[in-house]
Formats: sequence, C-alpha cells, structure tokens
Amino acid sequence: MGLTPMMRQYLEVKESSSDCILFFRLGDFYEMFFDDAKIASKELELVLTGRDCGLEERAPMCGIPYHSANSYISKLVSRGYKVAICEQLEDPSLAKGIVKRGIRKILTPGTYTDSSFLEENKNSYIMSMYLEKSNSSCGLWFADISTGEFNCTSTFFDESIILDEISKFSPKEILLQHNFGKNFINIIKDRFPGIVITTLKEEDYTKNIIEDQFKDFNKEDFNNSILKSGNGLLSYILHTQKNLLSNINKINHYNIVDYLTIDVNSRRNLELTENLREKTKKGSLLWVLDKTNTAMGARQLRRWIEQPLINKLAIENRLSAVEEILNNMSFHEDLKECLKEIYDIERIVGKVASKSVNAKELISLKNSISKVPRIKELLSNLSSNLLSSMYENLDTLEDIHSLLDKSLMDSPALSVKEGNIIKDGYSEDVDSLRFAKTNGKKWIASLENQEKQVTGIKSLKVKYNRVFGYFIEVTKSNLKFIPEGRYIRKQTLANSERYITPELKEMEDKILGSEEKLIDLEYKLFIEIRDTIEKNIGRMQKTSKIIADIDCLSSLTTIALENNYKRPTINMNNEIHIEEGRHPVVEKVIPKGEFVSNNTKIDTNDEQLLLITGPNMAGKSTYMRQVALIVLMTQIGSFVPCKSADISICDKIFTRIGASDDLAAGKSTFMVEMWEVSNILKNATPNSLVLLDEVGRGTSTYDGLSIAWSVIEYMCKNNKLRCKTLFATHYHELTKLEGMIKGVKNYSVSVKELKNEIIFLRKIIQGGADQSYGIEVAKLAGIPKEVIDRAKEILCNIESKEKEENKINQCIDKEYKKEEKEKTKSLKSQLEEEIASKEVSVSFDEEENKIDKKSANTKKDTPKQLGFNDIEKDQLLTYIKSIDVLNLTPMEGFNKLYDIISKAKKL
Ligand code: ADP
Repeated sequence: MGLTPMMRQYLEVKESSSDCILFFRLGDFYEMFFDDAKIASKELELVLTGRDCGLEERAPMCGIPYHSANSYISKLVSRGYKVAICEQLEDPSLAKGIVKRGIRKILTPGTYTDSSFLEENKNSYIMSMYLEKSNSSCGLWFADISTGEFNCTSTFFDESIILDEISKFSPKEILLQHNFGKNFINIIKDRFPGIVITTLKEEDYTKNIIEDQFKDFNKEDFNNSILKSGNGLLSYILHTQKNLLSNINKINHYNIVDYLTIDVNSRRNLELTENLREKTKKGSLLWVLDKTNTAMGARQLRRWIEQPLINKLAIENRLSAVEEILNNMSFHEDLKECLKEIYDIERIVGKVASKSVNAKELISLKNSISKVPRIKELLSNLSSNLLSSMYENLDTLEDIHSLLDKSLMDSPALSVKEGNIIKDGYSEDVDSLRFAKTNGKKWIASLENQEKQVTGIKSLKVKYNRVFGYFIEVTKSNLKFIPEGRYIRKQTLANSERYITPELKEMEDKILGSEEKLIDLEYKLFIEIRDTIEKNIGRMQKTSKIIADIDCLSSLTTIALENNYKRPTINMNNEIHIEEGRHPVVEKVIPKGEFVSNNTKIDTNDEQLLLITGPNMAGKSTYMRQVALIVLMTQIGSFVPCKSADISICDKIFTRIGASDDLAAGKSTFMVEMWEVSNILKNATPNSLVLLDEVGRGTSTYDGLSIAWSVIEYMCKNNKLRCKTLFATHYHELTKLEGMIKGVKNYSVSVKELKNEIIFLRKIIQGGADQSYGIEVAKLAGIPKEVIDRAKEILCNIESKEKEENKINQCIDKEYKKEEKEKTKSLKSQLEEEIASKEVSVSFDEEENKIDKKSANTKKDTPKQLGFNDIEKDQLLTYIKSIDVLNLTPMEGFNKLYDIISKAKKL
C-alpha cells in the first residue's frame, strides 16, 4: 500500500516547515495530521480523528474551519508554537488532478501581528543577534513588525549586557546563529522561559536586504555585526511573511550607554513594568505612572520606563514639559479630551502596509487624525523646548483626513468586498450604479402593493432569495384569485406557490447587475484610497510618535498632580538628597495617608554607604527601593514622590534584593546571591546606585558576616567603585564599621517597644539598630505561642553565653586596631624619615610620644573612631535598661548579670 497523492503532497510541504504546526487547507478547513494533529488537538481542545492516508494505520487528524483560524493560531503562537499556513493555490473546481498547494505564511511569536494576538499596550518585539567571531562584536536588533519600529545597536560580546537588553525589550522570539554557544543559549532559556529561540543559517545573514528596505540607508553608519544581524532579521521576516512591508522604513540606531543600565534582576526587583509575584502590571511602577489615553502612548511610556535617560538636557526637557503642562491646566484638559479620541494610528498604519486594513479602521484613522490640528493649535501657546519642537514637527495630515472624509462612508461595512463603503458624491459611477440599485428596489417594493390591489390578495408578498432571486409568493388558499396568465410559476411549496413575471426578472437583472458592479467598483476605489494612504506612511508614523510622546508627558503630569509629586532638581556632584521621599507604589496600596515619608542623603564621600539595620518588616527594602525608584523616575523625566529631591544622574542601578528567578533554574540562593554581588562589584562605578539587601544571609553567620563586611570594605575603599550604596543587613555587628571605614553611615528603621510588642514606626533614623526583634516579627506572623515562648527561651540562653557577638565584636575591634597600628607604624616611619632629613638627633622614646600625640590628633579629626567605646557603653546601657527584671526567672536574672559583667569587662 502506498501513500495517497494528497498525503504525499502533505508530507512534501511538511518537510519544508518541519519546526511548524502545518495548517493544511482542504476545502473549508485547515487540517492537521500526525504529530501536529496530536499537539493541536491537545492545545486547542479539538477532537482527534483519523484519515485514510494509504498506510495501514490511519493518520491522526484534527481540523478547524478556515474562517475562524485566527483565534486558534493566536492560541498556538502565544504558547510558543510556529504555525505554517498551507493554502490551495488554484481553484479546486478548475484543477486537473490534485489541487496545487503551498505555504502562504509562517506565523511565529515574533512575527504574528493579528490583533487577537497582540496586546494593545505592549510592543511585540522580535530580536536578532549576530556575533562576529573575529572581533567579538555583537549586533542586536529589536523590531516590532506591527508598528514598524526597528531598533539596532551593537556591543562587545558580554553576556550580562545582552541579557540586560533582552530584559529591556522582552522580545517574544530571538533569532541567532550558531556562533552563540549552547551555554549562553541555555542561560537565555533559563532566564526568559517564554521566549522562542530560532537558529538561522549563516547564509541568511549574507543576503543584502537592508539597503533596499530602508530609505536614506548609509552603510557606513553601521558596523558589520549590525548589518549582518539586520539582514538575518529581514530575511526571516521575508521567509515567514513572504513580503517586507512599507511601514518598515526607519532605523533607530541607539547606543546602549545612552540609557540608564538596569540589569535583569534589578528590573524585576524594582517591579518596573510587572510585579514580582504574578508578573502582571498591577503593583508595578508602570501601573502607577500609566495614565495615558492612547495605545501608542501606553507603549511609549513602557519604553520610557524600560529605558530611562542619562542625558541631563534630555531629562530636563521632559521635566520642563511636564511642569509647563502642570501650569496650564486648561491646556491639559483639552489635550486629554483630544487624546481620548485617538485610536492606535501606529498599528492601523501597519495594517495599511500589510494591506489588511478595512474601511472601518480607516474611518478610525480619519477620526484620530481629525484631532491632530486641534492638538497643534493647543501646543502653539507653549514654550518649553520639547513641547515647542513637537508643535513645529507635528504634521496635521489634513490631506489624508480630507481624502478619507470625502471617500469613505462614516459607518462603512466591515468587509471590503461587500460594498457599502464609498460615500455618495465621491465617484459618479458609484452614484449612478447605486441609483439604479435603489430605484430598482423601490420599484420592487411598489410592485407588492400594485399586485395586492390587482389580485385582491392581502397576504401576497414579493420576496428574495439567493437561489431564485426575486419572486411573488401566494398562499395555497389564495391561488384562485390570481388572474389567468398573470404570473409564471417558478416553485411549489407545501403551503404556497412562487411566481415571477418578465418585468420582475428584468428589474432583477438591473438590480443585481448594478449591485455586482457596485461592489467591484467600491472595492477598486477602496484599494486606490488605501494605496494613497500607504504612500504617506512615513508621515503618519512621525505624527503618531509625537502623539505618543505627548501622551506620555500628559500621563506624567496627571500622576504628578494626583499624587503630589515634585519636580526634582539635577546636580552633577554625585549626591542624592531626598526630603520626605515616598515609595510610589507602596503609598498607593496602603490606606491613604499611612505611608511614612523618609529623608535620604547619599554621596560618594562621607555618606557613601548607608548601612540600614532594623527588624524584618520594618520597611528597609521599601526604603531602598523608594530611593532607586525616585532616581529612576527622575531619569524618565517624571516628577517624584517627595517634598524635594536633588538627584545626581546615575549611569547604572543594581539591586540584590529578595529571591531571584534563577532559583527556579535550580541554583542555590547563596550561589545566585554571590553571582549578583560579583556582577555589581565588577560593573558598578561611582555614578552607580546599588541596593544590597541582606548580603550573606544565604550562608552561615560567620561566613555571611565576613562576606558582607568585606563587600562593604571593597565598595568604600576601591576608588573605581565608591558607588552610592544602600546596604540593609541584619548583622548588627556591622554598625561598628561606621567611623572605621570612610563612607559608611548607620541608619535604622525605628520601632517602638510596648510590653513585649513592637510597633513599626517606619522612620529611618541615624544610628544602628541594636536588636533584630525576629521573634516579635514571628509572633506578628502568627507563629504559635508555644514556639514563640520556646524561641525566647533559647535566645535568652544563647545571649547569656554571649559568645557569638563578642567574638565578632572583638574581631572587628582587632581588625581595625590592626589597621590603626599599621597607620601608626607608617606615621612612625614617616617621622623617622623627617627626622633623618632634618638631621636632628632625638631619642626614639621622645618620638614615640610625638607619634602618640600625632595619632591622637588624627583620631580627633575622626571623632567617630574615638567614640567607638562610647557606642559600646551606650549599647550596654540600652541593654541594661531593656531588662524587664520582674519577668525574669532567677536563673535568667543570673545569666543577664553575668552577661552585663562580661560586657563591661571588655570596655
Ligand atoms: P523589610 O525589608 O524591613 O523586611 P519591607 O520594606 O518589606 O520590610 O516592609 C514591610 C511592609 O511594611 C511593606 O509591605 C509595607 O506595607 C510597609 N511599609 C514599609 N515602609 C513603609 C512606610 N515608609 N510607610 C508605611 N508602610 C511601610
């Protein structure tokens, strides 16, 4: 037994699209066979049947009606499958033998643009990367076919930079070549599990398509890796879409270092566009900032958040624009009214380019464009740089509006092939055909009345159906009233007879003929209109970009006003100074007025590393994130939640907070933590902002403490680093580093103790916390009383032994005393040199005295080091005061006493 001819044809087509699910057109259905059928039936909940294919076993099969294919395709593509659409390439009724079939389109996550698949407020990017082995240059492209946005850049091959770019754009599909090692590909798969990776062949990169596609293209502006990567991208689009659309006409060539660098984890941790838990917008910064009125604006705002600026002028320009809008509330109200009426011009234009636009969408385009002149007029009164340049560059597209307005009906039919789209008065031919059609219909309507009168049959009707056209219908009981020879019988039904007359048929020909002609003509005119619009795509893209920008500024104004944000100032002194800062998201999710604001001062000198201690749940990480978000919002060009803020522009923001997605990839918490810390130590600069939360908690106390301590030292002492750092820790011992390491400054989150209970005050104050209150927090979390009581008992015993802390304290003292001694030693040799040069002979003992005096003076200059014992004393006093004697057992009392004495002895 051999394969049937149809099955042979199927298998041939399937061979050329083996990585796709093949939708094979058979009549009115798309059928899937074999493994494709098994997958599709499961994913789409279709019944799996079988079909004789010439082999012993039937081929597994399932199918869907062709007209409802889009929703099924969307489902498959959004789950990461590629779908190849195989169509009948000739009319089956005319085909000799088996109908010719071929693949018309391949739909992949990065190239599918059906509106059932795209999210309105989110771009849908496909990424391409090409690695030039000879010089390790990596060319990157991020393109959204639905809007025609094509961005490209290049970088020296560095995994973390590329991962950062991937997380910035969140592409749905990545195209790459074999040069990228398996390891790197696995990292991408681990980090971004939803992204589909497609490997192209080397020859796909060598076709020179870029030059033909982009107007004003100058090869000299791009390096080889970008060119190759771009050609790979375009050849893939060509392979899947079968054509390159006219909305792909402009390249945005950007430089990675022109934007704030935010690494993958920080983007997640700071919850910029989605929350950590559910990965949805709610609870993210975007959720707070997005009050845009158009889809284009919403997508642009997301890009602004993903790519904050680092250029002072550009940031100031956005801030000044927001300020100007804030000061012109009537302008803002009018602007919002206009924006509300504007549809997604960018994507409608994309549909014009792909020739899939319908008349209704063009009417939406017209209505949207109709608002542009008013926006331009409103802008004419404003003077800030950004808004006035928008005014100058805004093309009001009046010619396009007028073409659409005079040519298309206000509510045209959905389908472009059924007439009812061209407006009366636009074309004489359409008007006369329409006249013929409507007059004919009127004649038919009057025919019914006329025949009722002639025959006297009240129930007589003139009707229409597709098979018989127009006819007269008379019920059986009335047949006797029909005058002899008046009608010609056409059809007999159970209860009635159907008739025609020669005049009726003549009129029917006229009506149907004009109707058919009209449909053809309307379609032809529609295509002409669409083509004229297509020629103006570049202009419309420019206008929609300005609309998107102005919508973003309007959104930032709205939130500044609603939330009482203030315009930050920008300094070049590497200082961040925030007065009464708030966390933009947390303040929105807790009851109004309950958020406790906090000040921040951080620089690269004496307050370079803020060491924040305080119990869990006190608000440490909220505080740290708040500082990062205020800096980031400033660099987006947004006003910020505070009383006042003076911000120095950061080049990079790093965070090491909370759990990371890598945990899911099977790495240990500690390993991931250390990997992230190492990345920070290697890449941060004095212009960076770093948030570190509980570094070292993933390992044993001593290990963790030592790591945290040496990380602090490294960050403060290494001049290349000296990054502005917020360091939250539960190792209270580290608070001793203030005064010992330049730049470390202690802060804590205040809590109030009330009869064994704690109340979080959420206020960040200077100085370290002296207790962790872990057990109290556990109590708040509902841990059973028995467990809490026992924990207290254990803690008491441990504390009474007082080993760990003292060991660590002694060690810290010793380390820094060693350092002091070294300082003294070098001072000593310095003096000896001085003495030698002056050839003065003095006894060494005298010099020892001098050294002691000199070093004492040095200590005076750094009072914190001198005050070290005082801090210890203070801590002891606080400890003594905290003892609740009445609630101690005699044994506990004894232990405490022992504890106090041993602490006092060390002072
Ligand atoms: P920590 O990092 O110290 O464990 P978090 O920063 O996670 O604590 O804060 C715990 C909770 O406390 C937050 O979810 C928030 O609801 C609340 N919180 C934090 N900071 C503030 C603040 N400044 N004002 C009011 N509530 C706050």
